[in-house]
Amino acid sequence: MTKALPKIILKKGKEKPLLRGHPWVFSGAVAKIEGEVSPGDLGEIYSEEGQYLGAGHLNPASQIILRLLTQKKEPVDIPFFRERISRAARLRETFLKGKTNAYRIVNGEGDFLPGLIVDRYGETLVLQSLTAGVERLKGSLVDLLVSEMKPRSIYERSDVATRRQEDLPEVTGLLFGREVSDRIEIEEYGCHFQVDVKGGQKTGFYLDQRENRSDLKNLSQGTRVLDCFSYTGAFSVYAGLGGAEELTLLDSSEGALKRAEEHFHLNALEQIPHRFIRGDAFEVLRSLKPEYDIVILDPPPFAKRKGHLSGASRGYKDLNLQALRLLKRGGFLFTFCCSHHVSWDLFQKIIFSAAVDGGREVQLLVRKGHPTDHPVNLCHLEGEYLKGFLCKVL
Ligand code: SAH
Repeated sequence: MTKALPKIILKKGKEKPLLRGHPWVFSGAVAKIEGEVSPGDLGEIYSEEGQYLGAGHLNPASQIILRLLTQKKEPVDIPFFRERISRAARLRETFLKGKTNAYRIVNGEGDFLPGLIVDRYGETLVLQSLTAGVERLKGSLVDLLVSEMKPRSIYERSDVATRRQEDLPEVTGLLFGREVSDRIEIEEYGCHFQVDVKGGQKTGFYLDQRENRSDLKNLSQGTRVLDCFSYTGAFSVYAGLGGAEELTLLDSSEGALKRAEEHFHLNALEQIPHRFIRGDAFEVLRSLKPEYDIVILDPPPFAKRKGHLSGASRGYKDLNLQALRLLKRGGFLFTFCCSHHVSWDLFQKIIFSAAVDGGREVQLLVRKGHPTDHPVNLCHLEGEYLKGFLCKVL
């Protein structure tokens, strides 16, 4: 006989977000727990009146005590996860087949697989486990990924601070297959990159900016481009292949700029005049001349917590003010913010106040967010982090 699942009973009225499909239950919403629970167990969730609300992964050590996997009464077993993973893979096929061999296959809550991130870089998969539930299932998930995707290797990059909230240590290492090289070659929209999945930022590459890089390429013919927070130069490679006349890359990381230089060779862009500036964007931007047709601002998240919002807003405003100053009339600003806590509305206000203070007339052309391989669950807008605007300076 199978053991009964532990039951979480919510306090009165706390079922509303779940009924609307929100996948998180906070510990403060729980009235009682029936049954023994250890981190990573599957459990059922009920309203105070006894209405079944769904099943998900439990972690009593986390503020988010349950992550909803299903609202139905159905077995949450290996076939369940196989179906979720293959549904996620099919979505990427629909949009990205033949365009890139590097993309996010599973985007956690956005693919209704809370706590699981899987990125593909050619024949290598990179897995990130963010919850005790996924941690418990890691072996089975690796088996599923092997049978569904036939990768050469699966490498783990669970070296993220959010694991601490689940009482999990940071871990990295090979989970399946052959040793992973520190230069995996990928092709994205005809651009070539070598990704270091073992030591690079995130899982090695900023897959979430693919479509925005592609938009940049279409605007780049004959332009002088300033790529701030360039990392390994992905935006600049697109701009170079799009016909840019001159490229300036700015990043605080020496290693990232070295990789950017390699990417220039790999894409035969050495003949385009270019320079790499290693430094702090907040200082360097002040020293540059206003001679650019395009400026890209793609900083790291400044507001990792709600309490950081006002400092972060000042940082974003300062950068955008400087970037607008550096643009020639008619130039374009691609400006991004990847802080969860900064809303679209707030980010737009920041750009607005930078434009006012800088005395520049700015047109907002289009909002630029997540690509299709970073889907967001409509009931879980916390998953939406990337916000960007393409602006034109008149
Ligand atoms: N645009 C890149 C991703 C940028 S990630 C791409 O598409 O691949 C953010 C980058 O900002 C990192 O490479 C990090 O090294 C750099 N960075 C962080 N703080 C910085 C600062 N104060 N000045 C300049 N670069 C900074």
